[in-house]
Amino acid sequence: MFVADCFDVNEKGHLTIGGCDTVGLAEEYGTPLYVMDEMTIRQACRLYQKSFQENYDGHGMAFYASKALNCKELCRIVAEEGLGLDVVSGGELYTALKAGFDPEKIHFHGNNKTQDELNMALDNGVGVIVMDNLDEMKRLDQLAAEKGVTAQVSMRIKPGIDAHTHSFIRTGQIDSKFGFALETGEALEAAKAAIASKNLNLKEIHCHIGSQIFDIDPFVLAAEVMMGFRKQIKDVTGVTVECMNLGGGFGIKYTDRDHPQPYNAYMSTVAKAVKAKAKEYDMPVPFICLEPGRSIVGESGITLYTVGSVKVIPKIRTYVSIDGGMTDNPRYALYKSSYLAVIADKAGQPAVEKVTIAGKCCESGDLIQEDAMIQEAAPGDTLAVFSTGAYNYSMSSNYNRIPKPPIVMVKAGSSRVIVKRETYDDLIKNDV
Ligand SMILES: *Cc1c(COP(=O)(O)O)cnc(C)c1O
Repeated sequence: MFVADCFDVNEKGHLTIGGCDTVGLAEEYGTPLYVMDEMTIRQACRLYQKSFQENYDGHGMAFYASKALNCKELCRIVAEEGLGLDVVSGGELYTALKAGFDPEKIHFHGNNKTQDELNMALDNGVGVIVMDNLDEMKRLDQLAAEKGVTAQVSMRIKPGIDAHTHSFIRTGQIDSKFGFALETGEALEAAKAAIASKNLNLKEIHCHIGSQIFDIDPFVLAAEVMMGFRKQIKDVTGVTVECMNLGGGFGIKYTDRDHPQPYNAYMSTVAKAVKAKAKEYDMPVPFICLEPGRSIVGESGITLYTVGSVKVIPKIRTYVSIDGGMTDNPRYALYKSSYLAVIADKAGQPAVEKVTIAGKCCESGDLIQEDAMIQEAAPGDTLAVFSTGAYNYSMSSNYNRIPKPPIVMVKAGSSRVIVKRETYDDLIKNDV
């Protein structure tokens, strides 16, 4: 009925998540409130691990792309499930280290890591630093030389694949700020330089072709392009790069229009293609890394709001105003992303009203959804928006000096705060 198995409707007609009544959660913790189901997150982690076992002799590993949602408790959960972690900034790395995440199992990404961030990665023994460009490579080479260490590195490649996703979140094509281009020979030159450097060890080649992708074909194509590049490196330098990282981007269900593939279907198809290429090139199969972000946390999360007013503009539209908005979920304002919403205290009733869900910021574009079908809404109702586990808290802001909501984790009928609600004092703590 809803996006994932952790949701249901109880005898009161209220929406539940992980066995907890959402209306009760809204009362206990206040709104706006992010709620996440722990078992849904753990299940997603396990499906990735299992797909490597079933299709690739366990010769692979998933790294959770923590930009989707990074906080200490999530780092701990992901670590318990045996996944590695992707970080893209000093702040994400700091959070992971403070959560006790094994630095060996961290990949550090980013198209413009600062000198401080590169130092932080080297000083803390980060497993793999993913180089984005030649300037960064030179800087890293020099820093590693000064410290007398060998940096374990990967290279981000633009495989030139159009994954038919929203152009704002498409990153694999040649006109992208991310990575080395294959067509121009830049990627091969960089690989040669990395291999020649005694301070760098080229452990991996990496690509990430986009986000919220439902087709398997673009992933297969990317894997084949990357296998071809690996062969080229071998031919030119004699070196066989051990790992191939195929990034993330697996689509999730936001609405009934989304039909995600099971991860196993993805991995079985990609594994076949990789094995075939390895055989064709007479090379060993690479260790495969994947970097799911959205698909680990997205469907596990909802956001609960309280309806403040219902403004009917005859023959035009009805605005249902909530006590949050683009500050806790900027994705509609940024990408016109689709979301499913329900009135949580009337979740058993039919969705009969077409409304526009509006936030409380001083910005006309501050909408969560236009033309959403929901139950008849009234002030005081609890509104739930689904699939907000990824890229909501992590993209949240304090615009209009609105404090960020807390995150409550639920598990089999019990709940706990994993990120506290910001206070007004938190808002002014850096003001002088
Ligand atoms: C964003 C990103 C991911 C995760 O993408 P999802 O769509 O959330 O799975 C993985 N790898 C890299 C390099 C990324 O930039």
